[in-house]
Amino acid sequence: MHYRGRFAPSPTGALHFGSLVTAVASWLMARHAGGEWLVRMEDIDPPREVAGSARDILRTLDAFGLEADERVLYQSQREAAYAAAFDQLRNAGQVFPCWCSRADLAPDGGMHRDGRCVASPDPSRPPAWRLHAPDTVIRWIDDVRGPQEENLRQVAGDFVIRRVEGLWAYQLACVVDDAAQGVTHVVRGADLLESTARQIHLQRLLHLPSPGYLHLPLVRDAEGRKLSKSSAALPVDRSDPLPALRRALDWLGVSVRVAPDTPWALLEAARDAFDPAALRRSSLGREAAL
Ligand code: GLU
Repeated sequence: MHYRGRFAPSPTGALHFGSLVTAVASWLMARHAGGEWLVRMEDIDPPREVAGSARDILRTLDAFGLEADERVLYQSQREAAYAAAFDQLRNAGQVFPCWCSRADLAPDGGMHRDGRCVASPDPSRPPAWRLHAPDTVIRWIDDVRGPQEENLRQVAGDFVIRRVEGLWAYQLACVVDDAAQGVTHVVRGADLLESTARQIHLQRLLHLPSPGYLHLPLVRDAEGRKLSKSSAALPVDRSDPLPALRRALDWLGVSVRVAPDTPWALLEAARDAFDPAALRRSSLGREAAL
């Protein structure tokens, strides 16, 4: 199968080291397989978006030598595709409107499991739309962790695919776009491990192929805390990309012995030295050390 990988940042701040690691890992996997590497800007959540950060992230990727093989896909321009997928699910009786507040759902751990809204319909305000979660176990194989399974109803419940504000949920947009971009392999952080069963379920309902998945351990700071865009994690410095790029490669267990003086040359050397089996081993080692 011809490999197509992707990096899908959300424009919620500047690119930090954890995201750089994900970008480099997905780039290396795609290049090693002789496939394409795509970039998708997940700008479907205006309330969380930081103005200017989409452009900023793309400029940083360029400065690090991470060039996408196709035009960047912006989720903010994909309304029609998400609406079509939503209609398909609605016509198949897979979704239901929900007016529940957090308080309504609190008795069941904040989750919906019975396929219906516990609040009364309120025509004066728009509902969220939830997808029925079947009581079945979804099984898949993670490229680092091996066989995974999740009972959708127990873990996720009836999850939201269209939010009250009319915004599309990440799960739906991600599935529609991975298929539209022909993505065959997803490399991303372990914070999204739990989303995978939901996405596979959506792929099945929408008759879309499921890509392979590799979830990288989360990058942690010196105190063992997860780095994220909302924490104090510093953005990587695009005016001096080599040190952060070397650190990212070290983190991924890729040793490059030569000392190239541009990010492009360093990435090329890394691609030649890269071995997916070593990445799996170093990722498992990091998980075990937690
Ligand atoms: N946009 C998500 C993030 O920045 C990543 C989504 C994905 O890779 O599936 O965390």
